[in-house]
Amino acid sequence: MKRRLFLSGAGLAAGAALASSLPKPAIAQDKIEWKMVTSWPRGLPGLATGAERLADRIGKLSGGRLTIKVFAGGELVPALGCFDAVKQGTADMAHDAAYYHIDKEPAAGFFTAVPFGMTADELNGWVYFGGGQELWDELFAKHGIKAFLAGNTGVQMGGWFRKEIKSVKDLQGLKFRMPGQGGDALAKLGVTVVQLSGQDIFSNLQSGTIDGAEWIGPYNDLSLGFYKITKMYYWPGFHEPGSALQCMVNKQKFDALPEDLKQIIAAACAAENDIMLAEFNGRSPAALATLVNEHKVQLMQFPKDVVTAFGNASGQVMQDVLDKGDDLTKRIAKSYFKFLKDAKAYTKVTEAAYTAARALKFRYPEG
Ligand code: CA
Repeated sequence: MKRRLFLSGAGLAAGAALASSLPKPAIAQDKIEWKMVTSWPRGLPGLATGAERLADRIGKLSGGRLTIKVFAGGELVPALGCFDAVKQGTADMAHDAAYYHIDKEPAAGFFTAVPFGMTADELNGWVYFGGGQELWDELFAKHGIKAFLAGNTGVQMGGWFRKEIKSVKDLQGLKFRMPGQGGDALAKLGVTVVQLSGQDIFSNLQSGTIDGAEWIGPYNDLSLGFYKITKMYYWPGFHEPGSALQCMVNKQKFDALPEDLKQIIAAACAAENDIMLAEFNGRSPAALATLVNEHKVQLMQFPKDVVTAFGNASGQVMQDVLDKGDDLTKRIAKSYFKFLKDAKAYTKVTEAAYTAARALKFRYPEG
């Protein structure tokens, strides 16, 4: 009876009058639509799907108040142009890797991966609990950008080579795709290092414009089909021991958001940081088996002297970042190297010790 009364004309008018006298809650305010540019080919498993998942999660967590349209690399801006796009406001946010921008900020490499640097777990420790995020905020605030960790590939592979690498001198004269400070280190060993976005690697490798390329690891490399060009797949990828992906947001636009939407972006990025790593770890073992068993890919271990030479070259590159950087770059480098030193001592007696122990020969079920 009461319900029927409320639905009568008088009840509706009274209800409308009451509603209009109340202050409008923030949730009823304008819906925000943002553009997210990415560095990834559309639909690329792991990276592009991770960026899509991040955008979708922000939309759902916000109840549709902040929705994000995702652009593949090259659709709105060039695949390696995400930093400028967010800085200039062409895009509101981006998903890519910070080390694509070391030409602008050498310290950006620390927030993806540096050669012989931190693993994914160690990097998370530094960024979340070792002062890394605060330093990152300071670095990118110079460019009007706020960045979050938003994915990780784990340890990468050394890459695809068209000829066997038996010694350091086999590297000389090679044209090879490798970004970041790992690429700078490779250049010290006589390699002509080429920067290419993911979608341009296959055609350049096929045409012979480059002699080899690293991308990520089995899951992604299988989907891009590099095994069709060469069967030599080197390990390990000491140039990228756990590469983080980042979500960059135009800082002015981020700061203007209500607190709950800021928290939603931060939480969605933290979730994606975990889930993407789980996806790579979840899919890569089977992809590696497919590459080896179906496509007859040969797993090739880098000779020890090549690894050592790359280690020394990496050390020189990273020492240069420390020595030649401005004050902020120096502070970031010092913080990273100090954390790395302690992390190495810890990992030595935990993860590294355990995986070495697990690799010993003993009887154990294999499923
Ligand atoms: Ca890579």
